[in-house]
Amino acid sequence: LSPTSSNLVLECKMMPYGKAQFLLIVRDISQLKQLEQIRKDFVANVSHELRTPLTVLQGYLEMMDADCQPPPAIWPKAHTVMLEQTRRMDSLVQQLLTLSRIEAAARVQFELEVDVPAMLHLIEHEAETLNREKQHQLHFNIDDSLKVTGVSEELRSAFSNLVTNAIKYTPANGIIHISWQREHQKALFTVTDNGEGIAANHVKRLTERFYRVDQARARHTGGTGLGLAIVKHVLSRHNSQLMIFSEPGEGSTFSFALPPELVLNMQSTKRLSKP
Ligand code: ADP
Repeated sequence: LSPTSSNLVLECKMMPYGKAQFLLIVRDISQLKQLEQIRKDFVANVSHELRTPLTVLQGYLEMMDADCQPPPAIWPKAHTVMLEQTRRMDSLVQQLLTLSRIEAAARVQFELEVDVPAMLHLIEHEAETLNREKQHQLHFNIDDSLKVTGVSEELRSAFSNLVTNAIKYTPANGIIHISWQREHQKALFTVTDNGEGIAANHVKRLTERFYRVDQARARHTGGTGLGLAIVKHVLSRHNSQLMIFSEPGEGSTFSFALPPELVLNMQSTKRLSKP
């Protein structure tokens, strides 16, 4: 046997066969091993992500022990940190639930019409609130006639994640363009920022669960590392995929195109069902 892939894992079993013969059974268990590893990593990551805020909360709560009241000066900071950490855990659990809901639904019931322009105008409104601190220039260019069939809640999460990331990961006073336009009968969504960009070795791993370019900083921004994993899942259920172009020091473009069969020409609106 000469394995061609270094990831190949073979299981060999020798069994008696007849009087003086043996049967050698060789089974390729690479995929099983890979799945097992993914599951182990996932559990380890979730535990780590939950333990970090819990440790902080525990620290403050121990300080507030009945006999050892914290001096009043520390209370406002303790309160802010505890609130921040509780929110972090909440958003992590929310994102985990979203991921598992998407994965559990074997059949996708597409809605007749997803009013993406209306959805994007709402996201624009939310983005303006989120943008108060960073003061980026946000440019939305939305084709108001471009609607699709799909799962609205999932698509909303994909649009929102990409817009939120551009705001979060672009240093203050950046320029962000968000566009929803028809292109070659497809519906193209693009978010371009002039942030610090991402090196190629990170780009290919961004949609892995819990992957972050800079763990410490991403945590500080309130990120869970699950956003792009959710986007990837949602897009694959809509026959699409996430494209990322990034130049360190220049900025990034995250985009995806929904295929023509999902784009409504506003005459035919038939219910689609996808396995
Ligand atoms: P998070 O919850 O940490 O934001 P995501 O899965 O949404 O997780 O993103 C994964 C990582 O990709 C982020 O932690 C960040 O390092 C990087 N990233 C995402 N979007 C951008 C962007 N527009 N510019 C630079 N880095 C980005």
